[in-house]
Amino acid sequence: MLSSPFAIVAAVTAAEAVTVVIDAGHGGADGGVTGATTGAKESDLNLAMAKVLGEYLESAGFRVVYTRKNADDLCGGGAFDKRKDMYRRADIIARAEPAAVVSLHMNSFPSSSRRGAQVFFSRASEESAAFAAVVQERLNDVFNYPDAGRRFSALAAEKFLLEQSAAPSVIVECGFLSNAADEKNLTSPEYRAEFAYEIFRAVAVFLSSDRV
Ligand SMILES: [Zn+2]
Repeated sequence: MLSSPFAIVAAVTAAEAVTVVIDAGHGGADGGVTGATTGAKESDLNLAMAKVLGEYLESAGFRVVYTRKNADDLCGGGAFDKRKDMYRRADIIARAEPAAVVSLHMNSFPSSSRRGAQVFFSRASEESAAFAAVVQERLNDVFNYPDAGRRFSALAAEKFLLEQSAAPSVIVECGFLSNAADEKNLTSPEYRAEFAYEIFRAVAVFLSSDRV
């Protein structure tokens, strides 16, 4: 059903008051990983991706809650404290009562040849596994396979942020900033718009499908 345009129309018409939390990973003193060629900060790219994804979702009628909408971390201007930052994100997710949670990150790896988008979910949630599979399949079809001849499987991971809501939750590692081709793509606004669109599409299809 992934390619059915009718599924997307159904999601759009049924989307009123359906909330999606978008979490732009890192921020402030925590820049995340850094682009090997451009020096681009993961925190900035995550935020840029989050905003485009949010625009697509809002234009389709979803309510979007962001964990952050600017370059700052969530420590309120005080000294950076990763634990405090993560608990604030968790609190935002819990209060939003979301239908889905998408956390955006960029990857890095010692070997610069590794590239591609990978999706992670909590083993504790079957719905998250199903959601992750839909997002991963879409990113495989549109980016990973055409660009690098490779498909990834969504992976189970123990991540604090994935455990903060009963709603289907995924972390999307959009690509590797340690890979020149991925970095070139992810630092391009045009590519980010295409990439965010495919995440949006996967979210809309998943939320409009009949699920267990
Ligand atoms: Zn990250």
